[in-house]
Amino acid sequence: MGGEEESEVALRRALQTNRELAGRNILLQDRVEQSERERVCVVCMTSPRVQGFYPCNHFCCCGDCAAKCYEREGSCPMCRTASVGLSPRFFVV
Ligand SMILES: [Zn+2]
Ligand SMILES: [Zn+2]
Repeated sequence: MGGEEESEVALRRALQTNRELAGRNILLQDRVEQSERERVCVVCMTSPRVQGFYPCNHFCCCGDCAAKCYEREGSCPMCRTASVGLSPRFFVV
């Protein structure tokens, strides 16, 4: 008959497709997580970014961390460029 063999091939093919789809989902999930990370403060990794640094214009900190970095280090936490001021959103890095 050979019917059983054929159904096994079909099953294997279905499993393979399943695995490929699962792999794609993981990639998608990674991308979502990455864009989430890109929206949070680079210092505390929890609060949303609301402040940038001047003159490098790295929009990378929440209000608290931006103030702390500016007062304590006087530089941008992303590129360590000496900061002469805080800026509201100029552009997204
Ligand atoms: Zn922060
Ligand atoms: Zn910077």
